[in-house]
Amino acid sequence: MSREDYEIVIGLEVHAELSTKTKIFCSCPTEFGGEPNTHTCPVCMAMPGALPVLNEKVVEYAVKAGLATNCEIEKNSKNDRKNYFYPDLPKSYQISQFDMPLCKNGYVEIEDEKGEKKKIGITRIHIEEDAGKLNHNEFGGGSLVDLNRAGVPLIETVSEPDIRSSKEAENYLRKLKSIYEYIEVSDCKMQEGSFRTDVNVSVRKKGASEFGTRTEMKNMSSFRSIVRAIEYEADRQIDVIEEGGKIEQETLRWDDVSGKTFSMRDKEDAQDYRYFPDPDLVAIKLSDEYIENIKNNLPELPESRKTRYMSELGLSEKDSNLLTASKHLSNMFEKASKICGNHKLVANWLLSDISRILNEKEIEADQIPFTAEQLAKMVTLIEKGTISSAIAKKVVEELFENPKDPEEIIKEKGWIQISDEGAIKEVVQKIIEANPQSVADFKAGKDKAVGFLVGQAMKETKGKANPQMLNKMFIEELKK
Ligand code: ADP
Ligand code: ZN
Ligand code: MG
Repeated sequence: MSREDYEIVIGLEVHAELSTKTKIFCSCPTEFGGEPNTHTCPVCMAMPGALPVLNEKVVEYAVKAGLATNCEIEKNSKNDRKNYFYPDLPKSYQISQFDMPLCKNGYVEIEDEKGEKKKIGITRIHIEEDAGKLNHNEFGGGSLVDLNRAGVPLIETVSEPDIRSSKEAENYLRKLKSIYEYIEVSDCKMQEGSFRTDVNVSVRKKGASEFGTRTEMKNMSSFRSIVRAIEYEADRQIDVIEEGGKIEQETLRWDDVSGKTFSMRDKEDAQDYRYFPDPDLVAIKLSDEYIENIKNNLPELPESRKTRYMSELGLSEKDSNLLTASKHLSNMFEKASKICGNHKLVANWLLSDISRILNEKEIEADQIPFTAEQLAKMVTLIEKGTISSAIAKKVVEELFENPKDPEEIIKEKGWIQISDEGAIKEVVQKIIEANPQSVADFKAGKDKAVGFLVGQAMKETKGKANPQMLNKMFIEELKK
């Protein structure tokens, strides 16, 4: 049997840090970073006798997330203690939700491998607190704990095992991330750990009705690593099975450098955590009116923005999809279009060169270093003929390295387009003299020769000549 005889089964658990101002059970700030242990108080440092009080905003944000992912909202819910020991968790339990999560039975619509629509089920979304962070070996060996992150609110979104390939997993995660960004419940900054995924993978023979045993890779925070890890892990499992072995249910660590997974520990079961209701917190009861009110005030979701781009701006479905996939990209598109008034050109640049550079640099749209104003300025310079699109390509590269006003960039670099008739004519004549064969070709009816000559002239002027003018003038000169 080979890999083609197997099916991959994936379920994802996503932890998103909520962008509330304060923590889930105290009034400390949730801000990322800060001197170690400065965003703390007796509650989040787990001093004996300190009592938690649930932050109402956390409930509101979780309900928003549930509504945006087609979940049922549970009107009666509660907080439970999940007991385990780890040095970044001074209470020795995490306050989470066990059997009565705030949201359940939802779905997110994605595109599958063939580009067809597919629903990925969402089992549940629950609220919980984040743990602190250990800093290893920073102060001459040993580990020190920083509790700034302890008590930062999280929502955990658990998917059904409906995902069938690494590509689908990526599509699902991108969709979920964009929904949470649009409804402004989380900034989803993967590089700061505000959007982290536990990846569960199993394989089974095609056509089998039972799932295989899964392994889990925790806390992954880059799309690329997740895709690689799924591919590697599925291959590894298939090899084990093909050799007559059995998959152990365990937690694995993905190592990005070697591109392999390593065993960390046996997987705990729910019973190992000894869940029980937190006696310090009251039950959560929501009225229909409360839920209805949040529903009526949900911001625009990517799906409706996409429809709007197609109907109002006449963009293709593919382009609208790409532009709205990230809220940052879509906001930049709208803002820059509004400033320069040419949404077609803005969309073209965002989806071609800018997207290509994002890919090459392996960064996300929220890390674009330049502003919508700067992008709009560049588009205006193209429209006015101050720069050619060949120069604009260089300007985009420069905007990533050294973001500033494109007008300043082209002045500094001497990249202004040559649109002066006299100067263009000079180049045209020089190129014609140097390429008698192409001239002869043209006269013999080979129109393509003009393209070659324009190319030569662009080379001669280091991309600065206005290509439309060159084209026109070559034809005029050759027809003489
Ligand atoms: P735990 O917290 O113990 O990991 P959960 O029930 O919260 O358990 O999460 C289980 C995750 O694993 C879900 O996303 C689920 O879809 C996924 N999952 C369950 N069984 C399988 C399987 N056989 N193969 C792949 N994923 C699975
Ligand atoms: Zn606190
Ligand atoms: Mg898990």
